Amino acid sequence: MENVVFWFRRDLRLEDNTALNEALKSGKQVLPLFIFDQQILSELPWNDARVSFIFDELSKLHQKLRQLGSSLCVRQGDPEEVWKEFMNEFDIQSIYVNEDYEPYAIRRDERIKQLTESQGIDFFQFKDQVVFGPNEILKPSDHKPYTIYTPYKNKWLEKFKQTPTKPLPANDKNHFLKVNLEFPTLENIGFQKSEIGVRAYDLSNLAQYEQFRDFPAHDQTSYLSVHLRFGTISVRQVIEQLGAGDQVFLSELIWREFFMQILFHFPEVINENFKTKYDGIVWRNNEKDFEKWKKGETGYPLVDAGMRQLNETGYMHNRVRMVVASFLCKHLLIDWRWGEAYFAEKLLDYELSSNNGNWQWSAGTGCDAAPYFRIFNPTEQLKKFDPKMEYTKKWVTEFLPPMIDHSFARKRALEVYKAGISSD
Ligand code: FAD
Repeated sequence: MENVVFWFRRDLRLEDNTALNEALKSGKQVLPLFIFDQQILSELPWNDARVSFIFDELSKLHQKLRQLGSSLCVRQGDPEEVWKEFMNEFDIQSIYVNEDYEPYAIRRDERIKQLTESQGIDFFQFKDQVVFGPNEILKPSDHKPYTIYTPYKNKWLEKFKQTPTKPLPANDKNHFLKVNLEFPTLENIGFQKSEIGVRAYDLSNLAQYEQFRDFPAHDQTSYLSVHLRFGTISVRQVIEQLGAGDQVFLSELIWREFFMQILFHFPEVINENFKTKYDGIVWRNNEKDFEKWKKGETGYPLVDAGMRQLNETGYMHNRVRMVVASFLCKHLLIDWRWGEAYFAEKLLDYELSSNNGNWQWSAGTGCDAAPYFRIFNPTEQLKKFDPKMEYTKKWVTEFLPPMIDHSFARKRALEVYKAGISSD
C-alpha cells in the first residue's frame, strides 16, 4: 500500500484542515508528521509557554490518532535533515502541507520541495490559514497589493460575498496509516512545562463585542489569537459562527489577513520601516527606560498593568497593547523594533505579521499607520477605557511616580519625529 505524509505546522487539528483532507482523499495511507524545528527551539527559553501549548495540542492529536489505530510521528531537528532521514525510513509517494506565508517558512518549504521532488516525491501545498491568500486581494487597477486597510477590507468583503468560504466536509479518517509510534515527552524535546497556560477561545460574547471590545475590564474579546496562530481552530470555522451583526469582529479577522499579505509582499518590513521617510528618526533607545517599560514600572498605571499582564500571562488586551506600544515609541523614543522583539518573546499569540504590522502602526512608520502626531495620553486612555481601574488594579497595586512627564514627552516626540521625517 502506498503512503503519503501530511506535515502539521500551524494547523494543529484534524477537522477542516485543507491539506489533511486532500491527503485523506488521495486513496493512499496518510502518515501524520510534526517536526520541532531546532532553529526555532534553540532561541526559546526552557519553559517557553508556546512550546508547552504546542506539545499539549500534539499529545491530543496523538491520542485521537491512536484511537484510529494510527500515530502522530514527532521528529526534531533541521527540517531538511529530518526529511532526508524520513524519506529513507518510509516509502513515501507525496507530501501534503498547508501554505505558510512567513518569509522563513516560504524559504523552508522551497528547500524541502526541491529536495523531495528531486527524489520523485510530490510536494502539494494548499491555502488554509486564511480566507484569501496574499495574491487573491489585489488592486484592480494595477494588480498590486493594497497597502491601505479600508480598500483592502472592502475588496475582501466583496470577494467574500461572491465566494463565501465554508468549513470543508468531514474527512474520512479510515485512511490514516495504521502504525504505533512512540510519542516523546516534553523533556525529550528539551523543555519543561510552562506555568503559563492558554485560555480557551470564547465566541459566546460576540453580541457585546462591538460595545465592549475596547474596555479591558469587560474581558469580552474572543481569545482566538493563539488558536488561530497554531490552527487549533480554522478561520473558516470561526467565520461560520458569525452573524450579520458581527461585522466589527469580522473586520478584526480581516486586519489579520491584511498584515499577512503586507509581510508576504513586503518582507523587508521585518527589519525596516514600511515608510522609509521615517528612517531619519533618531531613537533615544535608553536601556534603563526600556527595562522600566518591560517590568511595568513606568508610573503610568495602564501601561504598567498591560506589561505586567503580558509578563505574567503571555497575553495583553488589544487597547492596552496600543497604549504601551505608543508609550514606548513616542514617550520614551525607543525604536519599535525593541518593543516588537519583546512582544515576540512574551506573547502566546505572537505572529510576525500582526506583531510587526501593529508595532509599525503604533510607531507611525507602518503602511496604514496612526499619524506621528497622534500620541496617546496614557492617563486619558485610562480614564476612558478603564474608568474604575478594575483592570488596572488587578495588575498594579502600588503607585509609582511617572517616569516622565506626559507634556514634556509629547513635545519631545513631536520634535524628534518632525526632525527625522524626510519629505517625499
Ligand atoms: P479579538 O478582539 O477577539 O479579535 C479576534 C481576532 O481578530 C484576533 O484573535 C486576531 O486574530 C484578529 N485581530 C484582532 N485585532 C487585530 C489586529 N489589530 N491586528 C491583526 N489581527 C487582529 N495579534 C496577534 O495575533 N499576534 C501578535 O503578535 C500581535 N501583536 C500585536 C502587537 C501590538 C503592538 C498591537 C497593538 C496588537 C497586536 N496584535 C497581535 C493584535 C491584537 O492585539 C490581538 O490579535 C488581540 O488582542 C488578541 O486577542 P483576541 O483574540 O481576544 O482578540
